[in-house]
Amino acid sequence: MITVASGVEPTVETYARKYPGVPREVILKEDLLRLGMSLTDAAMEAARGCRTQAYYLFSYNISGHHDMKEGMSTAAPEDIIFRDGPYGLKRTWVRVVLNAASPYVIDVVDGKTMLCERGIPVAEAVYPSRPQYYGTTFPDGLRYEQVVPLLYNSYAFITTFRACHYWGDKEECKFCDINYNLREVRRLTGDHVTADAIKDKQKVVDVLDAMTREPDPENRMITVIMTGGSIVRKLKGGPDNATDFNLPYVEAIRERIGRRIPIVMITESQPLENIRRFRDAGVTVHNANLEVFEKRLFQIIAPGKEKYVGYDVWVDRLIKSVDIIGEGRVSPNMVSGIEMAQPWGFQSVDEAVRSAASGFEFLMSKGVIPHLDTWCIEPGTALVGHPPIPLDFLLRADLAWYQTWRKYKLPPFEGYGPMGGGPGIAVYGNTASVDL
Ligand code: SF4
Repeated sequence: MITVASGVEPTVETYARKYPGVPREVILKEDLLRLGMSLTDAAMEAARGCRTQAYYLFSYNISGHHDMKEGMSTAAPEDIIFRDGPYGLKRTWVRVVLNAASPYVIDVVDGKTMLCERGIPVAEAVYPSRPQYYGTTFPDGLRYEQVVPLLYNSYAFITTFRACHYWGDKEECKFCDINYNLREVRRLTGDHVTADAIKDKQKVVDVLDAMTREPDPENRMITVIMTGGSIVRKLKGGPDNATDFNLPYVEAIRERIGRRIPIVMITESQPLENIRRFRDAGVTVHNANLEVFEKRLFQIIAPGKEKYVGYDVWVDRLIKSVDIIGEGRVSPNMVSGIEMAQPWGFQSVDEAVRSAASGFEFLMSKGVIPHLDTWCIEPGTALVGHPPIPLDFLLRADLAWYQTWRKYKLPPFEGYGPMGGGPGIAVYGNTASVDL
């Protein structure tokens, strides 16, 4: 049991006073994404049988595997819902970012799993149920969820290429631990089947097929999200670019499960002709993640993207892609908070928000809907140990994003489930901008 520290006010309360128009759910979600959480032994015990961590493109944790209790990085829930509690919060999905030093801890309090801040319960934590297809194995022992996990009970998440050809200090994005994490996963699991960087196409469609037969509507897949690292060299003697590498997967998926649900394709920026090829094959959404709007920061933070494509071409293609694939279907990721990464980023929240907001204005005025992912400061990156980004930045960036999205009467960005209209609606757990 956690000891209640006297005289400590939960952040959700302090910030609800500071930002009276912002829902408490948004405050708590952003604070959890920036600071992470840990689980007591009792909370870990309660997690048995739930949908545990199976998404390993990045670590998406603040603590390294060694800094957590043994087994936590694989046995903790992948994501949770927080709801109710003393503030009567509406159900809100959030990704579980593990951080052994976080003030947020899930514990069992009076028989319920509760999310606590410094020992004070702030909301009930509900673990995700385990889909039926989890645990099914291929003849070689590979489990279905190792091929395609289900995120937020809704997203079929396929990492077709689980490494990145942008390599080393001069190319890897400063916030990204994809290559480090693959080495870690291989070392930790000692399991050859998880070590393959390239997903087997037949296995991918077999798992998706099983997912379409999931009996519980709570675990119904509503979208397919395909992603992976950048490709600039031939992969196993095959394609040397993300379009030719991914198209056969798309064709096989559409042939097996039809056109009913969206396919979101996330790759590095591709020539416009390739966006047409993706669209014609059945890709609904194409996201070439810009990560940060400020050109100077893009060139520093994403040096591989600058080297192989360049900022101007990247942005130009985003804008032109909208005419090819449609509004709501070009929604590049922005790493919310990376604007303040030191030593290169803005020193003040005001400047950083101004820069992020100018990006929302420019892109949304042209029909591109950037979507935010709150920066998780991962252990295997160039920015390991960076102090957390101020909560004020994250909340003000969310507000700026939401106001600009409303201003241009844009649709929800497609392929990530419902969003907008206040807390209790969105599924996407990587940013609270969708809960406004
Ligand atoms: S392009 Fe950058 S963010 Fe994407 S996988 Fe490679 S290093 Fe990571």
